[in-house]
Amino acid sequence: MSKPKILILGAGYGGLMTTVRLTKELSNEDADITLVNKHNYHYESTWLHEVSAGTIHHDKARVLIKNVINTNRVNFVQDSVREIKKDEKKVILKNGELTYDYLVIALGFESATFGIKGLDEYAFAMRSINTARRIREHIDYQFANYNNDKNATPEQLAIVVGGGGFSGIELLGELVNRVPQLCREYDIDPTLVKITNVEGAPSILPGFDPELVTYAKNYLESKGVQFKLNTFIKEVTPGSVKMQTKGSEELEEIKAGTIIWTGGVKANSIVENSGFETNRSKVPVKGDLRAPDDDSVFVVGDCALIMNEESGRPYPPTAQIALQEANVIARNIKHVLKNEPTETFVYKSKGTVASLGHSDAIGVVFGDKKLKGKAAATMKKVIDDRSLFLQGGVGLLLKKGKFKPF
Ligand code: FAD
Ligand code: NAD
Repeated sequence: MSKPKILILGAGYGGLMTTVRLTKELSNEDADITLVNKHNYHYESTWLHEVSAGTIHHDKARVLIKNVINTNRVNFVQDSVREIKKDEKKVILKNGELTYDYLVIALGFESATFGIKGLDEYAFAMRSINTARRIREHIDYQFANYNNDKNATPEQLAIVVGGGGFSGIELLGELVNRVPQLCREYDIDPTLVKITNVEGAPSILPGFDPELVTYAKNYLESKGVQFKLNTFIKEVTPGSVKMQTKGSEELEEIKAGTIIWTGGVKANSIVENSGFETNRSKVPVKGDLRAPDDDSVFVVGDCALIMNEESGRPYPPTAQIALQEANVIARNIKHVLKNEPTETFVYKSKGTVASLGHSDAIGVVFGDKKLKGKAAATMKKVIDDRSLFLQGGVGLLLKKGKFKPF
C-alpha cells in the first residue's frame, strides 16, 4: 500500500515548524512529506522592518530551507503555488502540480489595502525579503540622489509610514536609527528629513497598554517622528499621501519620496480564490485546526482564523501563534494517520514585545509584567533567538542569533 502524502504549502513560521515537527512525530514509513515554498530560503517575517530600514542585512533574516529540514525525510519543492483544487486534492504550481492526502496551508500574509486608491501602485509594503530589500534600496537611493541631482528637494527625503500598529511602530524604531547614518553617509543635514506616521485611530498601537504606548510615542517623537493620529490615508499618488483627519472635511497632503504602508494584513488570497470557506480572508478553522469544510486540510498561521472566546475577537496574526499551531497540526496529522482522536488547539500567549530600534522596546510579558527600554530590548532579542532555536535548533541560533550587545 502506498504511504499517505502530506503536502505543506509555505515555509514561513507555520509551514517550516509543521514540517520540522512532522519529521519528529512520524517515521519514514508513516507518510511521504513534501514542502513547497516560493524560494529556497525561509525568512524571518518578524525581522522585515529591520531589513526594510537597512539596519540588518537581508541575509541575516533568511536561511536556506535545506539547512533546517531533514532532506532525507522531506521532499522540498521550490515553486509558487497558484491554486488549490480541493475537490481533486491537487495543488497547481507555476511549474507543475502535486496531489495530497493531507494538506497544510501555510501561505502567510499579504498586505491589506482596503481598496485605498494608489496604495498598491505607489506605496511599499513589507511582505517578504524582496519587498523589504526594495524599500531599503529605495530609501538609500533617495539619500544618494539628494546631493547629486540639482532638482532634488527635501520632500524626496521624507518618509511616510501609513499605519501605527506594531509593524509601523517597529519600522519607525529602525528608521530613527538608520536615517542619521544615511545623513552622515551622504552629507545631508538631518533636519531636512521628515518622518511621519499616519494612524487612523486616536492612538498608535490601538488597544495596547496605554503607559507603554505613551513611552513609545514619546521615544519616537524625541527622535523626530511626527504623528498624525485620528487620520486616515485616503489616497496615495506618486510621491504624495492624501489623508483626512476625523471631523475635517478637507483632504491634507504630505509629499514624500518614500511611502510605506503598514495599515494591516490579510491571508494569502490563494485561500479565498481556491474556494475555501473564509471569514475576513482567513479560514475559520475548527478546534483541531482543520478547515470547516474539508477534513483533509489543516490551516496554520496568518491563513487561519481562531476566535478568542474571552474577547469575542480573533487572535491577532502573529508568529507566536503560528508556531504553537504548527506543533498541534503535526500531532493532529499523526493522530489522524493512527485513527486517534485529534487535539484541540489552545493558545497560550507569552506576551507581546515590540522593538523601538536596536536598543529600546516595549512589552508586556508573563501575564502582566510591563517592560520598557533596554530590558524590553533584551527580551525582544531573547524572543527572536528562541524562535530561531525552535525552528532550527542550536545550529540556526548560532548562525543567525541576535547576540550583539547594545
Ligand atoms: P509567513 O511567515 O508569511 O510565511 C509564508 C511563507 O509562504 C513564506 O515563506 C512565503 O514565501 C511562502 N509563500 C507565500 N506565497 C506563496 C506561494 N504562492 N507559493 C509558495 N510559497 C508561498 N509576530 C510575532 O509573533 N512577533 C513579532 O515580533 C512580529 N513582528 C512582525 C514584524 C513585521 C514587520 C511583520 C510584517 C510581522 C510581524 N509579526 C510578528 C507577524 C508574523 O510575522 C506573522 O504572523 C507570521 O509571519 C505568520 O507566519 P506564517 O507562517 O503564517 O506566514
Ligand atoms: P495592524 O492591523 O496590527 O495595524 C494596522 C494599523 O493601521 C492599525 O493601527 C490601523 O488603525 C491603522 N490603519 C488602518 N487603515 C488605516 C488608514 N487608512 N490610515 C491610517 N491608518 C490606518 O497591522 P500590522 O501592524 O501590520 O500587524 C500585523 C500583525 O502582525 C498583527 O497581528 C500584529 O500583532 C503582528 N505584529 C506583531 C509584532 C510584535 O509582536 N512585535 C510586530 C509587528 C506585527
